[in-house]
Amino acid sequence: MTVEKMYLNGKWVEGIEQKRRTILNPATNLTLKTVTDGTVVDAQHAIRYGREAFDHGLWPQMRAAERATSLFKLADAIEKNAEEFAVLETLNQGKPLRESRYDVLDAAACFRYYAGLITKPLGQTYEVPDPNIQSMVVREPIGLCGQIIPWNYPLLMAAWKLAPGLAAGNCCILKPAEMTPLTAIKLFELIDSIGFPPGSVQLLLGPGDPVGSLLASSPLVDKIAFTGGTVTGRKIMQAATGNLKKVTLELGGKSPNIVFADSDLDVALEYAMFGILAGQGEVCSAGSRLLLESSIAEDFSQKLAKAFSKVVVGEGMHSDSEMGPLISAAHLQKVLNYVQIGKDEGAKLLTGGNKIETDLLKVGNFMEPTIFSETTPQMRIVQEEIFGPVLAIQTFSNEAEAIALANNSIYGLAGAVFTKDGAKGMRVLRKLRAGITWMNTYHPTFNEAPWGGYKQSGIGRELGTFGLEAYTEVKQININLNPVRLGWFSKLGSTGFEPVTC
Ligand code: NAD
Repeated sequence: MTVEKMYLNGKWVEGIEQKRRTILNPATNLTLKTVTDGTVVDAQHAIRYGREAFDHGLWPQMRAAERATSLFKLADAIEKNAEEFAVLETLNQGKPLRESRYDVLDAAACFRYYAGLITKPLGQTYEVPDPNIQSMVVREPIGLCGQIIPWNYPLLMAAWKLAPGLAAGNCCILKPAEMTPLTAIKLFELIDSIGFPPGSVQLLLGPGDPVGSLLASSPLVDKIAFTGGTVTGRKIMQAATGNLKKVTLELGGKSPNIVFADSDLDVALEYAMFGILAGQGEVCSAGSRLLLESSIAEDFSQKLAKAFSKVVVGEGMHSDSEMGPLISAAHLQKVLNYVQIGKDEGAKLLTGGNKIETDLLKVGNFMEPTIFSETTPQMRIVQEEIFGPVLAIQTFSNEAEAIALANNSIYGLAGAVFTKDGAKGMRVLRKLRAGITWMNTYHPTFNEAPWGGYKQSGIGRELGTFGLEAYTEVKQININLNPVRLGWFSKLGSTGFEPVTC
């Protein structure tokens, strides 16, 4: 049996305890691969190698242009192997191939973006009140970074973490989610062939606790970058307090998608579908709450329900599939439990709500696209992140109510508004307590623009210049241009070396 390995200190290795993990295809629940599963000892090794690589290794000392060259090569290699990556992502994660293809190219573009950015001006100079001082700021790498990612965008999340981290000169330990390590392993095959200095970039496999949690708690790790659930994010933050390491968190969401009666309703309808059904709804920024203006709510909801029932659910590898399986049987059950909760709370199930039991799909974790209407703001299906293809409809009668409903959440990741009235749309976006907002569109994400949440959706930003800054320390440098005696201490002699004798 071939066992996929992890990549520590420039070598492919099995975990010390020879533990193994079976990786399943969520469309069939059949085994795809077997991978080695790390333990706390492997994590300790990775941390020691990474520490050595940062403190004494080549990567942080290399010129930005040299690091950029390696990252450009990596971007090219991803593109060259794009189809293989996309197929692997779909087999392991479930999402339709067209989505995986998009993610792969986006991941390559992310490496290319940061390879370019790191050679552009980064620091600042200041004119300070003292004319003799030249003051400036340079940015330096933070050190050894632990990077923990979830299962919904396995390759893209790896790129969002590694690209800025490595570009800035840090050494990185990436820990993928247990269920979806395959494209990360493939990525590290390319990293290995390009030849990064040993220990500068490592792939650590294993469970969140204790392997990921050691990255968060270890005093030898300088920064922890985490994407995942809010509950885990809280644990990471607590674990990081020991050495007060830098923490960035990209967490969950329950994002509002607001549709005004004056919008192009056909456009709004398709984006409402895309907002919740892309990635099977297992998307942190999913438009999982649809806020409809009362005058259109009934008609829009009915049309949407009809459209949901026509979505082609199937294996991601089939070219006509528009929505794939959920990541695991356990996660499907969690989402189905939310459907039951919604019914028990008295919401109206407009469409969907079931596991798909057709002959072709019953072996996988397939679920019907689902809509609840007649919800109230307090319901759990309105407040909690379900992380599946389940949409909760809310209604509003004016702009102020739409904003109040939209912001009635512990989360603040994303939000959208649909209207033909640009000024109204802008007013609403400015009032949304969310880090990523869209008008007349849903979901576009750009390497160039910052990504992250308000409130309990996270701390800090990834992507864009903000994402690079999050992997740097800021050093202030002040140079005295006129180094003459200060004249501060009365007992110093004229030479300064000889104190005056009393
Ligand atoms: P999760 O929190 O269960 O796991 C994420 C990662 O954390 C995995 O690698 C896991 O092994 C690790 N982990 C688990 N417990 C840990 C611990 N105690 N210490 C250290 N690491 C630990 O999340 P998930 O179920 O994989 O992903 C779904 C969640 O991710 C959703 O809530 C979603 O909203 C969020 N997400 C957020 C963004 C964003 O950009 N804001 C993007 C994608 C996913």
